[in-house]
Formats: sequence, C-alpha cells, structure tokens
Amino acid sequence: MQKDDLKSLVTQMYVNLLEQIEAEEAATVEQVAGYLQDASNAIANINEQELHSMDEAKMLFTNAYKEIAKESLSSYQDTNEKFEEIAYMHEQTVNECNTLINLPALTERFNDIQTHMSDEVKKANDRIMQLVEQVKILEETSNLDSLTKVYNRRALTTYLEEVCSRENVNYELHLLMMDIDDFKVINDTYGHVAGDKILIFLANILKKTLRDGDKIFRYGGEEFIIILNRIDTLHCKNITNRLLELVRKNKLIYKGQNIQITLSIGASKYKESDTPDTLLARADKALYKAKHSGKNQMYSEV
Ligand code: GH3
Ligand code: MG
Ligand code: MG
Repeated sequence: MQKDDLKSLVTQMYVNLLEQIEAEEAATVEQVAGYLQDASNAIANINEQELHSMDEAKMLFTNAYKEIAKESLSSYQDTNEKFEEIAYMHEQTVNECNTLINLPALTERFNDIQTHMSDEVKKANDRIMQLVEQVKILEETSNLDSLTKVYNRRALTTYLEEVCSRENVNYELHLLMMDIDDFKVINDTYGHVAGDKILIFLANILKKTLRDGDKIFRYGGEEFIIILNRIDTLHCKNITNRLLELVRKNKLIYKGQNIQITLSIGASKYKESDTPDTLLARADKALYKAKHSGKNQMYSEV
C-alpha cells in the first residue's frame, strides 16, 4: 500500500464515520456531555429538604429532569455503540497498515484517540450511574403524580396518617373518592394517549374548582381522592354535585373529537376512631353504591 492509498483509506474511514453519525441523528460526545450537565444541574438545584414539604415539592417538581436523564441515557447508548464501531474500524486500519507498511506513529496516534474515547465512555458511564441513582431517589421521595401534577398515593398515605394521629380533629373533614365512569371505553375508543389527556383534563378541573385548603390526590389509574377540610356535610354535597356538573358539561377536544366523561363519587366523613383504612373503606363502599345506582352521581355515607 502506498502512502496516498493509506491517506485515502483513513480519510474514507472518517467520512464514513461522520456520515453514520449524521444519518442516525444520534448525539455526539459533546451533546451527551451537555445533556448530562443539564441533568445534573437540574438535580443539583433541587433542595432535598424542601422535597419533604408537599407544597414546596409541588413548586419544585418538574418532569424535565426525567426527560433529560432519559434523553442522555438513549443518546449515550447511541454514542457508546458508535465508539465501539470506531474502535473496531481503528483496529482494522491499524492491522492493515501494519501488514503493508510500518507506520508506528500512525498506530500510536490511533491508540491515543482510542484511549481518549474510552476515557469519555468511562466518564459518561460514571455520570449515568450517578444520574440513575439520583432519579430513583427523586422519584421515591416525590409527592406528586408525574402525569397530572396532583399529589400521589404516597402523599395521601402520609397525609391521612397525620390526620388520624392527631389528638382531636375539631372540624369536619370529608373524603371524596372519585372514579371516571367507563374509562376503559374511552381508552378503547380514542386511545391511551387521549385517556392520559383526560386524566390531566380532570385534574385541572379539580385544581381550578377546589379551594387552597382542599387536597387532591391521584389514588390509582383513573381514581382520585379529595379531602375537603372545614366543610360541613351539606356544603360537601353541594361541592361534589358542582364537580359532577362541571365534569359533565366540559369536554376535551382531542384530534378534532369531543371527548366527554362522567364521574362517580363516594363520600365519607372523618370520625375520631378512624384510621386511614377505615376512612378510605367507607368512601370506597359509597363509591360502589354510586356506581351501582347508575354512575354519574355521588353517594354519601352521611
Ligand atoms: P367503571 O365505570 O366501572 O369505573 O368502568 P371503567 O372502565 O372506568 O373501569 P375499569 O376498572 O374496568 O377500567 C379502568 C381503565 O383505566 C383500565 C385502564 O386501562 C385505564 N387506566 C388506568 N390507568 C390509566 C392511565 O394512567 N392512563 C390511561 N390512559 N388509562 C388508564
Ligand atoms: Mg377504577
Ligand atoms: Mg372507572
């Protein structure tokens, strides 16, 4: 092999490599490093102590960090594969060069590049490990449902345990358990994405309608729990009926189609001997009655 042949082989190799990187729209090392930096900044800016306070968590929590971390993971995956290809191509080139002409300097240069890349991969690997760990901790300590941005079930448990452990609750407290009617049909008719949008749509109606002192939790798939504080039973029924009416009247427009839903709601009222389980169980029983009386209505144990 002549020197010019070798030169064109190396050039061709890099051209191929660049083409591959561009064609796959995958990230470069710099981009990956950028993502990682953003992700670590986002996480570093979240104050751990504040996470324990529900209201602070609400302000601070954003799904952005998860997206960033996911993105860096997949970009990194691509980059890592690319590195393996590069390493392989280098090895081939070095072997070819050695059998034909002796170019120790070139070999050394290639080895440098490879070492540099391995270092990059190692650094990225370490950072990814840290990020995965941090995202896990963040999810475990978060009190918010990532889809609807209302409190999640973990937050409900903490909240109810706190209420039930008080010496006395000297005001009226009602728990509403609500469940979207025939949600499976909504999913089957309009698709799961539309179903998700309905959950956000409902959560937004609840957020807009309820007062600051009331708490909204996503209890399960299409089930929400509301705690109404300092409201007597008559008011509780009025609020619940207003909610039912609002949900009935509003519609979500999704891809040009109007989607309407109805709710069934079961209400229970806190009493002194209650534990979280007994309070929830009575609301569940009331919800069952609302469903079995034809849905789209509330049933109160009181
Ligand atoms: P019912 O009136 O008796 O409550 O009927 P239903 O269809 O609402 O109840 P069922 O329990 O049969 O179905 C609930 C459905 O909710 C099934 C499940 O796929 C869907 N679901 C649960 N979580 C989610 C979610 O996060 N997103 C979407 N799109 N669907 C969900
Ligand atoms: Mg359900
Ligand atoms: Mg349902």
